[in-house]
Amino acid sequence: MAAAQRIVIENCSIATVDADDTEYASGHVVIAGNRIEALGAGKAPEGLENVVRRIDATGHLVTPGLVNTHHHFYQWITRGLATDHNLFNWLVALYPTWARIDEPMVRAAAQGSLAMMARGGVTTAMDHHYVFPENSGDLSGAIIGVAREMGVRFTLARGSMDRSEKDGGLPPDFAVETLDGALAATEATVKEHHDSSFDAMTQVAVAPCSPFSVSTELLREGAELARRLGVRLHTHGSETVEEEQFCKELFGMGPTDYFESTGWLGEDVWMAHCVHMNDSDIAAFARTKTGVAHCPSSNARLAAGIARVPDMLKAGVPVGLGVDGTASNESGELHTELRNALLINRLGAHREAALNARQALRLGTFGGAQVLGRASQTGSLEPGKLADLVLWKLDTLAHASIADPVTALVFGAAAPVTASFVNGRQIVENNRLLHVDEDAIARSTREQAQRLAKIAGH
Ligand SMILES: [Zn+2]
Repeated sequence: MAAAQRIVIENCSIATVDADDTEYASGHVVIAGNRIEALGAGKAPEGLENVVRRIDATGHLVTPGLVNTHHHFYQWITRGLATDHNLFNWLVALYPTWARIDEPMVRAAAQGSLAMMARGGVTTAMDHHYVFPENSGDLSGAIIGVAREMGVRFTLARGSMDRSEKDGGLPPDFAVETLDGALAATEATVKEHHDSSFDAMTQVAVAPCSPFSVSTELLREGAELARRLGVRLHTHGSETVEEEQFCKELFGMGPTDYFESTGWLGEDVWMAHCVHMNDSDIAAFARTKTGVAHCPSSNARLAAGIARVPDMLKAGVPVGLGVDGTASNESGELHTELRNALLINRLGAHREAALNARQALRLGTFGGAQVLGRASQTGSLEPGKLADLVLWKLDTLAHASIADPVTALVFGAAAPVTASFVNGRQIVENNRLLHVDEDAIARSTREQAQRLAKIAGH
């Protein structure tokens, strides 16, 4: 077998986000094949063989690649609608449009969503896709194909909805699947696409949408399915006061108790939002190691509230960051979430002690890998882990005078990405994607957004 090719990165600041938050003011990283082989202070060791590329990263901070833990790619073509609504009103306004999506629309929207994140330093992405209109084509296959083309590590959370208006749910009747149909399609998607290996580029999770769009049977049987297949579970939880009220009225208990009663707390589960959590809810998440995808921009956009992230972290709950769908976060890139997680939590009870820059970076990297079940493989820079890393350029107008590189990255404007590597392969150079045509993607997303608007009649 040929020896692995090496890439040497030198003269950069490094924030490893390892267990001790090790940082180097000037250091090196050696990539061998798809793994990180070595890193440390000063220059790389002399005499390394098979070095195919040497990068002088003067003026840069190197961090683990960002990990996005909650998104709905299809919403890329319904941005800028229902801009002054709370969650339930926003959903009711958008469901009829969303129910008209087809494969070309979903493909273009996935390209737009992934391109936006990848060029901003995301190396592991996820898509919670839960709208599967009849005869709309192979939506899951289209989304996974886009992630492969772009070279991003990816989890598809195969979503579903089966509680429509006639069953007391929120989505219209024509927007949902049947219980059996959703379970069978989810199982088929896992069997076709899920890779459980250490360096997997594609994984699949079982992901019924939310308590107000899914039957109790689908939650319960979805959890059983995921455990039988050995994959993770994802859904929305405790997002708004209206959801809490809905659960109390329909099930006689709050969302966390409802999730517990349906098998939905556990170390193989992560949930988006978790805004309305009392102390015993947080304790239940901590006890069961249930993960949280914190989505501060979307929570602000929909006036949902402030998730108690400092209390969750203190209790030992795994927390990552999510952009959420871009119909509730038009920017669709993760740097904003690092910054907003820090700033918005300082508006809560813990004030200036809520989160610091290093904790925010940890949420967006290692914390994300934890909630996606991939913390032993990515999310921090350590020898033996996968080579998923970003070179942030911090010596230009926007950042050059900020005292500390991690502070510059988190508190400052979105930093230029000089290079981003996934699995040892470069996917971004100077803020441009290397394996897809960004301008062609911009054109096709606009075309598909216009086609959907026409079909949906707005
Ligand atoms: Zn969401």
